Amino acid sequence: MTALFQNFKRYESLVNVVHLSCCWSTLGRLAAASEQDWFNDNASAAGLAALAAKTAAMLTENPTSGDIRARELANIAHGAAKSGRAAALGDFWTVLANAVEPRLGECNAQELANTCWAFAKAGVAHEGVFNAAARVLCAGASLDSFPPQELCNVAWAFSSVGRVDDKRLFAALCRAAGRSVESFTTQGLTTTLSSFAKAGVTDLPLLRALATQVHRKLAQCNAHDLAAAVWACAKLGVGDAALFGAAAAAAERHSDRFTPAGLANVVWGLAKSGHCASTVSCQSDCSNRLTPLTIAVDSQLFARAFEQPIHRHLAAFNAQDLSSCAWSMAKATHVSPPLCEALSRAARDCLETFNTQDVMNFAWAFVKLGVADAELLTSCAAALASQRLDELSAPQIANVAWTFATAGQMDTALFSSLARAAQTAAVDFTADDLASVSWAFANANQLDERLFKALASRAATLIDEFDEEVLDNVEWAFHKAGHRALVKQLRQRRKGRAGTEPGGQQLALPGASKCGRIVIAGGGIGGAAAAVALQHRGFDVQVLETDSSFDARKQGYGLTVQCADALQALGIDLAQDDAPSTSHYTFSADGHILAFFGEAFGGGKVRDTGANDTGSGRFVHLPRQALRHRLLEKIAPNTVRWGTKLRSFEPTGNGGVSLTLTDGNTMEAALLVGCDGIFSTVRRQLALAGDALNYVGLVVVLGISDAVFPLCERRIFETVDGTTRIYVMPFTTTSTMWQLSFPATEEVARNLTKDVAVLKKDILRRCGDWHEPIPSLLRSTPLECMSGYPVYDRPVLEPETLRPLSRSDARVTLLGDAAHPMTPFKAQGANQALRDAVLLADTLAECVAQHGPQAGLVAALPVFERKMLRRSSRTVIASRDKAKQLHTRLALQPGRKGQRDAADLNVSEAIQTLQARGISASSATDPRGLDAVVAKCISGGVDEPAPEAQLEPCWGWAVRDDAEEAAWHKGTVLRIRKSGKMVVQWQDGSTAILAEDFVQPRAKKRKH
Ligand SMILES: Cc1cc2nc3c(=O)[nH]c(=O)nc-3n(C[C@H](O)[C@H](O)[C@H](O)COP(=O)(O)OP(=O)(O)OC[C@H]3O[C@@H](n4cnc5c(N)ncnc54)[C@H](O)[C@@H]3O)c2cc1C
Repeated sequence: MTALFQNFKRYESLVNVVHLSCCWSTLGRLAAASEQDWFNDNASAAGLAALAAKTAAMLTENPTSGDIRARELANIAHGAAKSGRAAALGDFWTVLANAVEPRLGECNAQELANTCWAFAKAGVAHEGVFNAAARVLCAGASLDSFPPQELCNVAWAFSSVGRVDDKRLFAALCRAAGRSVESFTTQGLTTTLSSFAKAGVTDLPLLRALATQVHRKLAQCNAHDLAAAVWACAKLGVGDAALFGAAAAAAERHSDRFTPAGLANVVWGLAKSGHCASTVSCQSDCSNRLTPLTIAVDSQLFARAFEQPIHRHLAAFNAQDLSSCAWSMAKATHVSPPLCEALSRAARDCLETFNTQDVMNFAWAFVKLGVADAELLTSCAAALASQRLDELSAPQIANVAWTFATAGQMDTALFSSLARAAQTAAVDFTADDLASVSWAFANANQLDERLFKALASRAATLIDEFDEEVLDNVEWAFHKAGHRALVKQLRQRRKGRAGTEPGGQQLALPGASKCGRIVIAGGGIGGAAAAVALQHRGFDVQVLETDSSFDARKQGYGLTVQCADALQALGIDLAQDDAPSTSHYTFSADGHILAFFGEAFGGGKVRDTGANDTGSGRFVHLPRQALRHRLLEKIAPNTVRWGTKLRSFEPTGNGGVSLTLTDGNTMEAALLVGCDGIFSTVRRQLALAGDALNYVGLVVVLGISDAVFPLCERRIFETVDGTTRIYVMPFTTTSTMWQLSFPATEEVARNLTKDVAVLKKDILRRCGDWHEPIPSLLRSTPLECMSGYPVYDRPVLEPETLRPLSRSDARVTLLGDAAHPMTPFKAQGANQALRDAVLLADTLAECVAQHGPQAGLVAALPVFERKMLRRSSRTVIASRDKAKQLHTRLALQPGRKGQRDAADLNVSEAIQTLQARGISASSATDPRGLDAVVAKCISGGVDEPAPEAQLEPCWGWAVRDDAEEAAWHKGTVLRIRKSGKMVVQWQDGSTAILAEDFVQPRAKKRKH
């Protein structure tokens, strides 16, 4: 470097532009390779200034002269940018830009790319240079001849200087990159992908191809490449579970090598993709031994790989990095008080540099993690209140309202700016926007009159677009805000909707049968419901079902059905099958109440839960087979072909589909509807881009027990310990279903679920010391009433993925689990399948009426798929998120579920009171009943001791354990039912319901 500057000085008067260009190239090369900061040496700094001055003078004297070629200009720019001292060169860049701009058309690919790269690297977003470059690059097919490295440099340059709106240029770059996807170097690939992410490129096939290449080259990525790739794939929504799983493993290996921004990007990308729950982060010996599988997958990965590096980089993080780390931590459900404290301190020091999005994310993360950092949240509320909120989207407004209401931070200034923003935006709200904003404000008790007036007038125009769930939330919110007229209108709408489709009989479409036969593969919930709905509309339907008969195999678990609109449309009444519940509790493993809600506490009153009271109000609980039976009995005889399995299908020449069955037979269909569940044959054959089973990191064990326990009567409860969770609900009015789940690697899950005896031992080891009746419930469940399986879902489908252009008129579609399988933790799979079935029949009928039989079928399918996927995608994601939360310490936070019906109840305070008074799961044996005890306590009543008389020790005559005959056993009378039967608790904690004659006071033991 010293020699270079000395030579330049010696010959300065003689140098021409070629010499200068060589000097700059050499300087760039030497500076990039230099390990020391050469610029700190005075002689070098002076040398650089002299070189820049000479160059500027020469360019100024003769800016457009033919003897300064484009090549020399490109070299000068490149060398100057590589010198790393661009900022020290001042006006030099303007002079250079003026010289470069008119000569760009003469550059070859490398010179053009290098020039763009140099200006971007120097941070000089010279409009003239970039405009001219874009013109040249887009002219003809000039980019098509660019090698991958040059494409990468151009993409990087334009995205770095913020020219991401150059849509024409990025489209041309995509076209060119598509031709050379496999020729990119690892660094070129990751840089190009992240440039495309910054530019919001939407060319999905190209992006997926680039993501596949990233996956192949992952082993060669350094920390920088990895961070860029993970961030870009997550931002663009490309890449599958396998890619992110491998990236998570690589990130763990590189965790000490990330720059601060790289670390924030990689953590954000893994959290955003939701795939860091892959098996890589499960600590287990992957054997079938009964090792403790206390794994919270995401959280563990976060703790192992990222917590320490984040601590180390805290001081160097900018606002966005801090916000990304906090947000990712919440997404990974990683509760770490020291890290929260450190992040909070760092953020408070520079909150003024946070933009609106960063503050929102930061505050949301802390509330989501249940960290009550009042000082931080007060600062965040003030920061938000001082910013312009009128550009927030409806979901963002709802999120902010949720965040601060949940934290109890009802900052008046913030809520009133939020209300003004929502009020202005209300005219553009969609049905979903309206529901989330009105719900959030009502839930926060922020019933701003002007806001609700604006929301109400928007709601009146959207009334036909509300589905059942949205209608429910909107109705509740406006009821609370006192908008009686709108509530009445919404209720009429609900009735009207039900009224227009009473079983569908009279809605049969004349001529529907002319469409030809619709074949449904799968006679589960979705397939049976589709058959009912389609036959109501007059379509000719055949269902193929693998099972040899209705009850050919164990189909047993309980469902919660919440879609009254779909049931109504199907003409199904489930009242007689409902195993009702009127309260819902969350307990810790030792039985403390963590949350409670339900009709039993509506308005502070305990509902009569006596034997004559049927129905659980909004939801119906019943065995899956009972629902399936109700659907199948509505179908015309011989519609279902039992014992018939679809093997494959192919389009026929006349627009239909030819089906081949596993018995070798074939059949023709005008339309094939794949309702064949999560392992769908139809979906597999469609070979959808990016499709794969996604193991969510959990095992689910199911059981059904006939034993009677007071806590299980007409009640749903869940118990959590931060890792394992059990959910217990009425299966029928005389039996109880439980669902126990815990994290495990896929291999352990598969091994463990092969043998129910081993599984039972394992779960008893986990939960044997949990509060009663959990151990007794598990013990009382016969092995033949138990089953277990690893939990899977699939990536959320985009309508274009299900129906790509190449197959736009295919007469094949999917519904139910085949289209959108989800984890069972939000109890939505069957509800979505029922809604899909009604939607399919309605859309087909509408389109066939409009376009005629054949064109109508083709026109209906994309419309149906778009609506179905839009609705169900939300529940797939929410179910996956819930699966994560329920198996981490987040599940242990008290009062996470609000008591919606009792507006003035402070749930957190109520829970503290219950704990202070010792009211817990064991209070279920109180003769007055748990709900009554809880209701009395939270309404401020003094808890009186239970009436003595009914806790009388007794003898009960019953067959118990493995005995073959009945005998007298010691017990206690807990309660006498209205029917006169007695609820008796045995000494091991289990209970039975016995007729009066079979119970005797202990003093009067009777020999038999
Ligand atoms: C433990 C648990 C609890 C749940 N709880 C709830 C809940 O409370 N609420 C809720 O809404 N949802 C719940 N679900 C989800 C719900 O059960 C499913 O989403 C729903 O059953 C999906 O219906 P489906 O018809 O799409 O698929 P399935 O019910 O799986 O039916 C698919 C049918 O297709 C048949 N089949 C498969 N391949 C072929 C082939 N090639 N040819 C012919 N037939 C074929 C199968 O034999 C099967 O009968 C729960 C799920 C589980 C596992």
